[in-house]
Amino acid sequence: MGPPQQFLDEQTQLRGIFNIGAGVDALLKLKLPPQATVVRLDDAGMSVQMAEYVCHAVIRHFRELDGYEMDIKAGRWSYRKPQERSNFPVGVMGLGVLGSCVAQSLAQFDFPVMGWSRSSKQLKGVRCFAGAAQFNDFLAATRILVNLLPLTPQTLDIMCFDTLSKLQQGGYVINVARGAQLVDQDLLTLLDSGHLAGATLDVFRTEPLPGEHPFWRNPKITITPHTSARTLRDQSIAQIAGKIRSLEAGQPIAGIVDMLRGY
Ligand code: NAP
Repeated sequence: MGPPQQFLDEQTQLRGIFNIGAGVDALLKLKLPPQATVVRLDDAGMSVQMAEYVCHAVIRHFRELDGYEMDIKAGRWSYRKPQERSNFPVGVMGLGVLGSCVAQSLAQFDFPVMGWSRSSKQLKGVRCFAGAAQFNDFLAATRILVNLLPLTPQTLDIMCFDTLSKLQQGGYVINVARGAQLVDQDLLTLLDSGHLAGATLDVFRTEPLPGEHPFWRNPKITITPHTSARTLRDQSIAQIAGKIRSLEAGQPIAGIVDMLRGY
């Protein structure tokens, strides 16, 4: 949730606005003072949390830990055949502060890892794709899709029937960026058809997720309440104070939002 518009309108001398988070989509919906520089948090303890969350979700799916849990609850000592890691290529959309850390963490577990971003990148252990021209190749090479794109007009609804059906058979979706990037009904349709095997979702179009939403009851979907990477107070304060000091000393800082790109 962004601050109320009226609060911003009253701040006529604002030179900078620090967003207490990585995603600035809520803030950019407001009318901001044109002279103010918008600065997002970059990392401040979020990338390691995001890597924990996504690696956990990927491994839980790959190692069939939900299936074991159900068996144990039913009093069954079950045996499942080990799956081939090479059959579970993971594709990370967005290779920024969070996505690059997540992709490289996944590579440590020897999963084949792909990444997709706007501009081309080189990341150790990650096969990088860039731009609209390489999007379909990225999707076709991916079985587990991780979304870490900022919400912009270009990424709104990006996980729709068309894109999700291009994932490999038995695909899995992990959405940890923004709910409006996923078309809920298209995910449900592809889960029902069996093209997708499941999803782990941390973010939703409406938060809190309304009680009647079908995601709550779908056994193929794991939900968490927007908690994959929390803003850590002390690290964030230290980062913001450091950036203010740098700006006052006329030094460059990281994390300035490009208002035209929207992130
Ligand atoms: P970031 O550093 O700004 O990175 C964004 C990445 O997305 C960049 O690699 C960028 O490409 C790529 N990208 C942007 N638009 C694209 C497009 N149209 N096509 C292809 N690639 C595109 O952002 P971040 O810090 O990693 O954070 C990512 C998002 O995570 C945030 O915006 C926020 O919404 C979400 N988030 C969620 C939580 C949570 O708790 N669930 C917590 C923190 C953040 P370039 O590198 O070429 O610019």
